[in-house]
Amino acid sequence: MYGPGDIVAVMVGVAVEGPYSYRVPDGAEVERGSIVAVPLGPTLTLGVVWGEPKDNVAHNRLKDIAHVFEVPALSDELLKLVDWVGRYTLAAPGMVMRGALRSREALEPERPITAFRKTGFEPERLTDARLRVLDVVADGMAWAKAAIVGASGVSASVIEGLERAGALERVEMPPPPVVMPPDPDGNMPTLSPEQQQALGAIRGLDPHRFGVALLDGVTGSGKTEVFFEAVADTLRAGRQAVVLLPEIALTHAFLERFSKRFGARPAEWHSDMTPVQRARVWRGVLTGQVRAVVGARSALFLPFRELGLLVLDEEHDGAYKQSDGVNYHARDMAVVRARLADARVLLASATPSVESRNNANQGRYRHVMLSSRFAEAALPDVTAIDMREEGPERDRWIAPRLAREIFSTLDRGEQALLFLNRRGYAPLTLCRACGHQYQCPHCSAWLVEHRFRGVLMCHHCGHEQKIPKSCGSCGAEDSLVPIGPGIERVAEEAAERFPDARRVILSSDMGSNAALRERFAEVARGEYDLVIGTQLVAKGHHFEKLTLVGVIDADLGLAHGDPRAAEKTFQILTQVAGRAGRASRHGKAFLQTYHPAHPVMRAMVTGDREAFYAHELAAREAGSLPPFGRLAALVVSANAHEEAMDYARRLLSVAPMAEHLKLFGPADAPVAMVRGRHRVRLLAQSPKDFDLSGYVRFWLASAERPRGSLKVQVDIDPMSF
Ligand code: ADP
Ligand code: ZN
Repeated sequence: MYGPGDIVAVMVGVAVEGPYSYRVPDGAEVERGSIVAVPLGPTLTLGVVWGEPKDNVAHNRLKDIAHVFEVPALSDELLKLVDWVGRYTLAAPGMVMRGALRSREALEPERPITAFRKTGFEPERLTDARLRVLDVVADGMAWAKAAIVGASGVSASVIEGLERAGALERVEMPPPPVVMPPDPDGNMPTLSPEQQQALGAIRGLDPHRFGVALLDGVTGSGKTEVFFEAVADTLRAGRQAVVLLPEIALTHAFLERFSKRFGARPAEWHSDMTPVQRARVWRGVLTGQVRAVVGARSALFLPFRELGLLVLDEEHDGAYKQSDGVNYHARDMAVVRARLADARVLLASATPSVESRNNANQGRYRHVMLSSRFAEAALPDVTAIDMREEGPERDRWIAPRLAREIFSTLDRGEQALLFLNRRGYAPLTLCRACGHQYQCPHCSAWLVEHRFRGVLMCHHCGHEQKIPKSCGSCGAEDSLVPIGPGIERVAEEAAERFPDARRVILSSDMGSNAALRERFAEVARGEYDLVIGTQLVAKGHHFEKLTLVGVIDADLGLAHGDPRAAEKTFQILTQVAGRAGRASRHGKAFLQTYHPAHPVMRAMVTGDREAFYAHELAAREAGSLPPFGRLAALVVSANAHEEAMDYARRLLSVAPMAEHLKLFGPADAPVAMVRGRHRVRLLAQSPKDFDLSGYVRFWLASAERPRGSLKVQVDIDPMSF
């Protein structure tokens, strides 16, 4: 505790390298973690009391803390997490702090709600409208104004009139809770023997100590039911739980499952919420009123004070890596937070990341397996279609064999899914007359044709232009041709071939999140026969009637030079194939490929995932790549290519020497220009036990500062490299 006159360090929520010193004003008391407003320049800024200042500061120049908010202090564990993330990712700790704070509204006490109650006095003039209002409040309880309006259908002025006439009186009601408390004993499922065993293994982790379990279970094995029981255990023990999901906006079905199990909706945390909703959840988490949160990766920084469990569902998902602002990976940060909070982490996936598999193999994580599907469901049979021999005719994308399978699936009244992980109609537009290829004016990327919307679009910067009638380069008419398929083009072919099937396209271009959620519900209800979708459909969904999955281009992800390409492709193919046959009917998946002998395709066809992980881990180890080595990417960008390249070369020339450290580049980044900025990349590779963050920090500190349009972005543990 610090009292009036004490000097404290305050971490303000702006991009600063460390805390500033302030004086505790008269009549105030603060402690480490107290949330305060402090003067910074001409304005007040939110900040958090960090502790005692490191350096002695001249007292007379110090400003007073302007305001101390009456909310519980942030936990020591959260402050340490902020510090850790800042040091590890090289982001300014103030920026990380800002991500953990909310607006002022979240910190002020919630205002009571104005409500009205009957006084018992009968007004002289009783109109129809007035009678209706008095009818509503006849129960003698206090009603919020909006509730009276809703129930009686009259305007608010009638209520005010009754107040003036003395028939109603104003009272104040406390605001309703953010969410009702979840009941750990709500609707307990009967777990299968295998699920029971998995839960037993998770319960084997000491609930009061740090520990990580990898819940590695094939698609449809019932992982959710198992981790819900771990959530229930945590709630029973009086601690808070957070479940992280990728792409939360589309997980309506998940929230329903939670509500069913725990008898109450969880508090949510994602980008689709209003600032007021966010403020209420944030505050509820801090005061302890909210016991369980389901959210996107940023829920990691919520101000839990009694955190006991963090679950990451689909832990392998790339969406867990934040790549703008503070570049952190939610999986790694969840483990760090759990260690600081003496909490447990549960990583769930049917296709764990190579990192997590390695940690499980080495005994750092408890490896919990679910190897069969729940109830009578079986894993789908996977077949590779060799496109070199069995491919369709030109400008067609569905192989004859897959088309036959779709016909017989539809004949049986079952659903089929056609999958292509590429939005739009065609990835490239070419002029047949002159060979001109449509490129983004701001990025080194082709423009993707989106035929439904009538535009060519850049997937990197969002640039759009109308689909031209004549070639912009040679002026030829009707000479532009689409090259290659996007999901819209597959849908066009499907419409021709299966005109009687009820079809739906599920891709992020096809409507708002709310509209897409509605489409997903319709698919689940069996209102479509043929689903044509991008990676949106690959994850988590449970469609009872879906028995056939056809992957149009299974090689798509393998084309990149990225060493994670095999892992990513294996994951997405397993996930999408896993949509087939999740209920009583048996499922089949067909992969159209030009490389049927590739280890990924072989693992898919034989179902031997262990062989895939063994192969992939061996390849990573041989190359000292993650998880056997560390990587950091330094992306230098500037308005001119020369400028970026020159600076990167100078940066390289001042790199400190370190044993076993290798530097690569500078070379153009995989997307060499984005939004008009040229990007050049340096890569640093080190052994696993090397402090690569510390090295890069030291390196940048000893280099000349980037000036003008130059910018350096550091990405520790880049996802693609
Ligand atoms: P996963 O997340 O492993 O892919 P899910 O948790 O979605 O699998 O489970 C697959 C299906 O089986 C879901 O419809 C789920 O409701 C059902 N299920 C799983 N476990 C149980 C259980 N113990 N009791 C009843 N239904 C279950
Ligand atoms: Zn662009």
